[in-house]
Amino acid sequence: MSKVFAITNQKGGVGKTTTTVNLAASLAATRRRVLLIDLDPQGNATMGSGIDKYALDYSIYDVLVGDATASDVRMLGTSGGYDLLPANADLTAAEVTLISLASREYRLKNALATIVEDYDYVFIDCPPSLNMLTVNALTAADAVLIPVQCEYYALEGLASLIQTIEDVKRLLNPRLAIEGLLRTMYDPRNSLTNAVSAQLRKYFGSRVYRVSIPRNIRLAEAPSHGLPALAYDRNSKGSLAYLALAGEILRQAKAEPEQQQPEQAGQ
Ligand code: ATP
Ligand code: MG
Repeated sequence: MSKVFAITNQKGGVGKTTTTVNLAASLAATRRRVLLIDLDPQGNATMGSGIDKYALDYSIYDVLVGDATASDVRMLGTSGGYDLLPANADLTAAEVTLISLASREYRLKNALATIVEDYDYVFIDCPPSLNMLTVNALTAADAVLIPVQCEYYALEGLASLIQTIEDVKRLLNPRLAIEGLLRTMYDPRNSLTNAVSAQLRKYFGSRVYRVSIPRNIRLAEAPSHGLPALAYDRNSKGSLAYLALAGEILRQAKAEPEQQQPEQAGQ
């Protein structure tokens, strides 16, 4: 059975794309079948997977708004060992076009239905906003992973994100769950990091992943080579942290009983 994660936080630059690309590569390295969906018009996850966003014939835009199927558009076997549904600036138009389409919140979920069983894990890289693209990601997902940068304004905005997730759960996708909050760019020598980390634990308890991702230059360098950090520098602290996160997610999945999927309305 496949599990679909939305990686989301409307705050910009908190490590959503870095997490999506490196977690996808880490799980692919453990021989899981992985699909990455780039749902951000910035196309950073596409470039970071070694695919030129300026040279795409088709993208996730054509799947959401046009006639293309997910299986037409997916690119098999990228540099990180996972498959990719790529994105570029075309997707900006989808934010608006989607509003007037039938089953607008379910476009991604419905498009995925034909290929989701080809994968053990699907990771959706969301844009830094709570727009219709993000709603599509949350409607298609089983689980939400929220990267949080442990800095002063980290908690600002989390309340509206949690509210959006609760709304989607109530109205569109009852099985959606916040699986985990991931501390990114973590620096234990910084007292602010520790204070934010303690606050996250207070509010979210065991839903804060044990693994945190350190600030590591290799994670920042790897995308300019079109590679996940694992392929760029396997032994870097950043690569090892994402491998450890993949291990934590796999252990969590083992501990969970197989859940009965409730039937969805409005599909
Ligand atoms: P956006 O909201 O624009 O989509 P994002 O949440 O996807 O941003 P990233 O693009 O993953 O964030 O990260 C923002 C910047 O920080 C990038 O330049 C990235 O290379 C860098 N970065 C992310 N995580 C780390 C880390 N652990 N150590 C060092 N640099 C990092
Ligand atoms: Mg991003």
